Amino acid sequence: MTRLSLLNDVRAVVGAIEEFAELGREGFLQRYGFAPSREYFLRVDGALIDTKPLVAAAYRRQFPDHRDLLPADFSGGVDGAAKVLRRLGFEVVTRAQARPPVLGDSYASRTSLYEQYGGDKVAGIVTLPGDSTVNVFSDADGPYDDDPPTLVAPFGYRGEGLSGPQELTQRGNAHLERARTAREPVRFWYRPVGGTFSFLTWCVVLGRTWIDGRDAKGRPRVELEWMLEAVPGPASEQWPAAIVNVIDEADATTENHPSGPEAAREPTYAELLARVEARGQGRSGSRAPRVDYARSAAARRAVLIRSGGQCESARCTGMPGEPNRQGEPILDVDHIRDLARGGADHPLNMVALCPNCHASKTRGAFALRWRSELARVAAAANARALDRT
Ligand SMILES: [Zn+2]
Repeated sequence: MTRLSLLNDVRAVVGAIEEFAELGREGFLQRYGFAPSREYFLRVDGALIDTKPLVAAAYRRQFPDHRDLLPADFSGGVDGAAKVLRRLGFEVVTRAQARPPVLGDSYASRTSLYEQYGGDKVAGIVTLPGDSTVNVFSDADGPYDDDPPTLVAPFGYRGEGLSGPQELTQRGNAHLERARTAREPVRFWYRPVGGTFSFLTWCVVLGRTWIDGRDAKGRPRVELEWMLEAVPGPASEQWPAAIVNVIDEADATTENHPSGPEAAREPTYAELLARVEARGQGRSGSRAPRVDYARSAAARRAVLIRSGGQCESARCTGMPGEPNRQGEPILDVDHIRDLARGGADHPLNMVALCPNCHASKTRGAFALRWRSELARVAAAANARALDRT
């Protein structure tokens, strides 16, 4: 029996709570020599009291002749102070239970978020102690090449795991898979370059696909690409009907294990093209565009292979001098005719462009000329790539 479990006098705890109220948090922590709690708090009359020093104070009251309980003697959590207090009938909550994050919350860093809620301060996909909602972190400066978030269209989010093949059973990926199958909303946190992490939007997990990626050392591997979409709020009644349809459809085609040759070697342009075409036109008669992420990922990869790492525009004045964070050339894969305007999700309607050409094509004065030229470029590049394989 540990000394901690000797504590069984409710009056000793009540006395310690009164002492906390008298001294204030800082004075109380100081008197007993404890650091602030990170995860577990006793909740009484709307106040949150750090569980560990509270238990130490109550112990001193019940056993004035014993040696004091010191911070190193026990934990504050469900195996320690929280357990003892709950057994005596007190309400113990985590910070996330007492006050879960609300939209717009912002923290200077993952560490400051950790100081508030506890839990994991590194992983990209986490739950907070005591709270089952999944939190997804995207850092514009981070190691993953995620799409920038958009509030108006689905966007891709790379799965967790920097080395080796990614797996659905890895912690963060397992969290997101649970949110996907249970259709639970997730909190999406984003940190722009040089900015702070803020709870940007609620999202739903529309679907996922296995894609050909590269690990931190540039070796080919399979990666999970999660498709997220912003929703107005956590309650599914607030979600547009189109989103619910997409989840239904994605559910039917979701594979639990990576398949195809990509796990072993890089697929060829022709193989990827065949995969794109085998998945159909990607559009149905309904007004909501059908989103087929496996098809999109294959088409995108095919165009990057076809480009050979160079901007495909004949007008290109030069690639950026630096590679991206994966050590690959900085290229955007662009739909020549927008998907939203009926353009096909097919390499014949896609080009790899450097950021300059991409900006000229989308924001320049000669958009129409770019479009017709690039359609010819894509057709010719497609024919050449098929010739090669
Ligand atoms: Zn260019």
